[in-house]
Amino acid sequence: MGRAAIRRLWPIGAAGMAFAPLPAVAAPPPADYRIDLRLAPRDARWSATVRATNIACEGAVARLHLHREIEISEALVDGRRVRPILDPPGATRFWIDAARAFDVPCPRRSLVLRYSGPGQLHPDGRNQISATLLELSLYGAWYPLVRIDDPIRWRLRTSLPRGWRFASPAEAARRGAELTLRSDQPADIVLIASPLFDEERVSAGGTSVRLLVNGTIGPDQRAVARAQAAAAADMAGWASGILGPPRPGAPARPQLIFTPRGGSLSYSRLPLIILREGDLRAPPRNRPAMLTVRHEIAHFWSRAPQTVDWLNEGVAEYLALRRTGEVDGAATLDRVIADYRKQIAAAGPAEPILAGPEQRDFLNTYARPALLIEALARRHGAADVARLLAALFAMGADQSVDRLLALVEQRFGADERATVAACLAARDWTTPCGG
Ligand SMILES: [Zn+2]
Repeated sequence: MGRAAIRRLWPIGAAGMAFAPLPAVAAPPPADYRIDLRLAPRDARWSATVRATNIACEGAVARLHLHREIEISEALVDGRRVRPILDPPGATRFWIDAARAFDVPCPRRSLVLRYSGPGQLHPDGRNQISATLLELSLYGAWYPLVRIDDPIRWRLRTSLPRGWRFASPAEAARRGAELTLRSDQPADIVLIASPLFDEERVSAGGTSVRLLVNGTIGPDQRAVARAQAAAAADMAGWASGILGPPRPGAPARPQLIFTPRGGSLSYSRLPLIILREGDLRAPPRNRPAMLTVRHEIAHFWSRAPQTVDWLNEGVAEYLALRRTGEVDGAATLDRVIADYRKQIAAAGPAEPILAGPEQRDFLNTYARPALLIEALARRHGAADVARLLAALFAMGADQSVDRLLALVEQRFGADERATVAACLAARDWTTPCGG
């Protein structure tokens, strides 16, 4: 899942000493949004006012993106009313198909936008404001985006109808119908709420998970939802046991939300893991039921920068596979591994894992890196690999290929370093790589 890197202003040395910061290259501060969101869920209508500061500009212009069907009724730049230029010349395709670009003069202080839009923000329902569901994330382009991976600080004020339960990765305060959300950790904006949600707490392995699930589903599906929440709790407890606590600043208690909508999108913005209710009726056939939720929990630890996203995803997938083998049996684990090997063989010679972000696909981001770490665990033992991963996670945003290779050499020797480096650069996937 796409997620932005967390930037540090200066590197921390191995002994924990801070080096002096380099002069004048500090990253710009994240944009800051204050959002008033007025909802009329019964009429599938809504409107918003966004007050933004620290908006990134290209020269004299700020280029932003909003859902194509959103209508901007007012735009103020530094207190002056301006007319946004929709679909400006030179605007390239945005990552979210439904979004379009608009330009405003670069705000020196603030940008205020008032706008409203349709309740259904994506044809598959992934973002909507309706009588049964409020699901808002960046996938609906319902708030102005400069780039897709720009995390922002945000406050959101709205009011939810009585009886609606909600989840958000932000800190929340609810007083009657009034809801105030506040995220000081730069992140994208997620709010999901429904009058259908029942709330439970499911515990396993010393961890408890908050579960939100449609209270009107049948008992069989409810049991599957509980089992998923128990697997999430178990995974969090297990990972704490072998890796130590998640990195400082990581969100606390996992929350599992089964969204009552169609579409194919599941996603996570930790501590939220948002899955489709439909999967409770028809679980995916080619993947063990709990593997996805274990993978998402593994991201509480595995959060390498976007520049090495294959490492972030491959390590999460490896950890999920390991726990799946322990809980569901070696045969289940071996089936997944055999399936990955089959897919890799069928794809033939491929771009290497290190080829670059344009070469990212499932095999290079998830399957091949996970098999490589699994092969390391088979050669050196899972416990030693867990210690290596804990050392890697401790580097936080400084995780890199070079640092990974240095850890491999330190723990398993120069030959193993050479093997891993060769696998990362390989077009063919051989036995030492996990093939
Ligand atoms: Zn992932």
